Amino acid sequence: MIEEKVARLRAYDNNITRYRRLLETDLSDLEREFIERRLNEERSAMKSLANHPVSGSRDLMQRQQKITLKETRESGPTRLIVYCADYKCAHSVVIDAGRWGDDVRLSDLEPKFTCQACGHRGADVRPLFEHALMGTG
Ligand SMILES: [Zn+2]
Repeated sequence: MIEEKVARLRAYDNNITRYRRLLETDLSDLEREFIERRLNEERSAMKSLANHPVSGSRDLMQRQQKITLKETRESGPTRLIVYCADYKCAHSVVIDAGRWGDDVRLSDLEPKFTCQACGHRGADVRPLFEHALMGTG
């Protein structure tokens, strides 16, 4: 899954580079317009792939963002995993959720984080389901 994602990101990246080079050449208005549109499409496809690496996980992620720490703790996890919102960095840290109150939502916490690796402000916060990471066997 990770390898497939990396391959797809690289393909988008190659396309973007190619379109950018094309835009530097002599083009008709129509060609330029077409390439700029393709460039934007590649960019947004790349961004959404980076933000939502597993297809179909988008709804789940949005649902997770809305839940409160009380609900998080009741469903098991006492710790959170915080990902840098900059997909090029993707730095992540695990933190203890104990410092925040029950009615705090994960989405409330996201803007509060600044990445220690790249300084980017804003993060994706998810409950850390440790039993899921370790498998059920
Ligand atoms: Zn970062």
